Amino acid sequence: GASESWRRFDSAKVYTADLESGLHYLLRVELASHDYLEGEELSIFKDFVTLVAKLYPGGGSVVRLMEALSDWLLSLQGRRLVYQNVLDLVDNKMRVRQCVPGGGVRWVGCQGSRAGLRGYPCSLWTLFHILTVQHAAKPTALENTGGSREAAPVLQVMRRYIRTFFGCQECGRHFEQAAAAGLDQVQNPDQQILWLWEQHNRVNSRLSGTLSDDPLFPKAPWPGPALCATCHEEKNGARWNRDNVLVFLRRHYGASNLSHRHAI
Ligand code: FAD
Repeated sequence: GASESWRRFDSAKVYTADLESGLHYLLRVELASHDYLEGEELSIFKDFVTLVAKLYPGGGSVVRLMEALSDWLLSLQGRRLVYQNVLDLVDNKMRVRQCVPGGGVRWVGCQGSRAGLRGYPCSLWTLFHILTVQHAAKPTALENTGGSREAAPVLQVMRRYIRTFFGCQECGRHFEQAAAAGLDQVQNPDQQILWLWEQHNRVNSRLSGTLSDDPLFPKAPWPGPALCATCHEEKNGARWNRDNVLVFLRRHYGASNLSHRHAI
C-alpha cells in the first residue's frame, strides 16, 4: 500500500528525485500519446529539451540525456520525429532508472497522500522555477539558441510546452491566458523569476479547497512565514516584500539547495 512507501522529506529542500521522475514521466507518458511529432509540436519539444540541457543545474545524467536528445533532434533537421525513437534513446540512456519500482518514478518532495495527487504537476512547477533561477544566474547560457532574443525565454518555452503537451488541458488554457495577459511585461531574468512565483500563487489560491488540493499539502500563499519570515510584510497595504521574495527564491531554487537524497 501507499503507507509503507511514504518517505519523510524536508519542505525547505528541493529533491532531484522529483525532477528526474518528472522528466521521466514527461518523456515516457506525456509524450507517448503522440505517435510522432512534426512542425510546431516538434519545434516546441526541441526548445524544451534544449532549455533543460542548457540550464539544468549540476550536470549529471539528466543533462547528458537532454544533450543527447538535443543533438539527435538537431540532426533530424526538422523532419518528422517518430515517438518510438525518442523512447529508444531514453531507454538506452535512462536504463538505471527503469529499476526503480513504479515504472521509474519516485516522488519525494512531490509525494501525494494518495495516488492521483501531486506528483507530476508538482515536479513541472519545480523544474520551471529552477530554470528561471538558473537563467538569472547564467544569463548567457541560452546564447545561440532560439530563445536568446526573448526577454522571458524560460517562460516562453514553458508556455508553449504547457499549451501543447501538458495532459491537463484546463491548466494549459489558464496558463496561456495568464501568459497572454502579462508576459510582455517581463523584461529581465529577475522579473521572470517573480512572474512565475506570482502566477503559481494565483493558481494556488484558485485551487485552494478543490479536489486537486491534497489535504496533507493544502494550497496556500507560498512561501509561508515559517519558510520565509522576511518575505512577508504588513506595510502600506503590501503583503509581500518582493525584494526578499526574490532573494528567497534564488536560494530555495538554487543549485546548492538541491538534495540528491530520497528521504530525510
Ligand atoms: P504545486 O502547486 O504543484 O507546487 C509544488 C511545490 O512548489 C510546492 O510543494 C511548494 O514547495 C512550491 N510552491 C508552491 N507555491 C509556489 C510559488 N508560488 N512559487 C514557487 N514555488 C511554489 N491544476 C488545476 O486543477 N487547475 C489548473 O488550472 C492548474 N493549472 C496548472 C498550471 C501549470 C503550469 C501547472 C504546472 C500545474 C497546474 N495545475 C492546475 C496543477 C496544480 O497547480 C498543482 O501542481 C497540483 O494540484 C499539485 O499540487 P501540489 O500540492 O503538489 O503543489
